[in-house]
Amino acid sequence: MEQNLLSQELALRIVRRLQSAGHVGYWAGGCVRDRLMGNVPKDYDVATDAWPERVMELFPRSRKVGAAFGVVLVWQGKAQVEVATFRTDGVYSDGRHPDSVVFTNARDDARRRDFTCNGLFFDPVSEQLHDFVGGREDIEAKVLRAIGEPHQRFAEDHLRMLRAIRFAARLRFQIEERTRGAIEELQSRIELISRERIGEEIRMMLERGSRVRAMELLGSFPVLFAEVLGVKPHVGGWAVLGGVPESASRGEALMAMLMDGGMLRDKPPAEPGGTDLVRRLRTRLMLSNEETELLLWLAREMPRVEKWEELSNAALKRIMAGPHWGALEMLYGADPANVERVAAFSERVGALRAEGVAPQPLVTGDALIRLGVTPGPAFKGWLEALYDRQLEGELRTEEEAMAAARRIVGE
Ligand code: ATP
Ligand code: MG
Repeated sequence: MEQNLLSQELALRIVRRLQSAGHVGYWAGGCVRDRLMGNVPKDYDVATDAWPERVMELFPRSRKVGAAFGVVLVWQGKAQVEVATFRTDGVYSDGRHPDSVVFTNARDDARRRDFTCNGLFFDPVSEQLHDFVGGREDIEAKVLRAIGEPHQRFAEDHLRMLRAIRFAARLRFQIEERTRGAIEELQSRIELISRERIGEEIRMMLERGSRVRAMELLGSFPVLFAEVLGVKPHVGGWAVLGGVPESASRGEALMAMLMDGGMLRDKPPAEPGGTDLVRRLRTRLMLSNEETELLLWLAREMPRVEKWEELSNAALKRIMAGPHWGALEMLYGADPANVERVAAFSERVGALRAEGVAPQPLVTGDALIRLGVTPGPAFKGWLEALYDRQLEGELRTEEEAMAAARRIVGE
């Protein structure tokens, strides 16, 4: 069965169990929103008036997560559901987390949530919606609205500013005016949020389906954008980002953003591509090693490939043999700036691929040594030069290649 169906089934079982033990139990937050909108929830969360110890008593296969907030993870097979005790949050002194929480009822729990669309409860047994915050109306009107006083809510937890943008983009909601005004006022405070959490939000914004909307919205808060990505929002559109297929990875989407910003162009050749920019992004967004490696490679090779007409076959083949050629080819094709050259590009690339971009070298180091050459400073250069001529198609057989080798070595 699909993961989300398993999660739904477990969440239903948990609510039944809680209710038959005399507790209140509802589905809460994102899953209620998604179902109302006719979308499939990623996962299900349960909210209850039972305290964490009681939840763990009722569900032996469980453990506390986020102990301070009274959240218990319950699992069964591959499915898992977070069960959170209704709570209100105490004072926020770090701009992200409440100093303490107090267990309470559903109404108060709804009010501590971030946006009206995220503040709904649903009782899957009686099939009743419990809406203490006007969430249903806002979902119908496609409005993203902070619960309570927007300024206060963003001042408590600055990460909510990025969440607002992410949800508005993903759900195609308008950000309500006062909510927007509060983000405008408080945007510079995002610097107090950890780089890990910011990076996570940006990655989630780059999920399929709403990448361009998320970047447009983020760009409409220039201070926030600059603080998060370390560059000013650019005025052009997000054509490359919009051109990458839905299936593109987050790393590839990040690269598309850099191309959109023109961030990789106009660098002196001594400073290959935007590798310094990638290094800055790495610390800013806490990129993984894998993402960093992908971006560094792309940032180095893309500016060269953009001038592919000037590259020799050997040079292009060497790039094609690199670890992320598939991503590079996709991104080149996604850039509308290349629209008139992409057919010729594909044709040339196809022809080179048919020849083989990484054949076994016809001349090896051992073969050179057998010719009586002692490995020295020139040795590697000779091998490279011979391999280049092989890639160019000048040397096709071992005999041709060895003859060429003898000529070079003899000189
Ligand atoms: P997603 O589909 O992206 O998981 P979600 O609505 O489930 O969306 P989560 O981040 O999983 O979002 O959080 C679950 C719920 O917890 C939210 O719907 C919201 O009610 C509440 N919540 C999460 N983060 C915050 C926050 N920073 N401030 C207030 N409420 C929050
Ligand atoms: Mg969720």
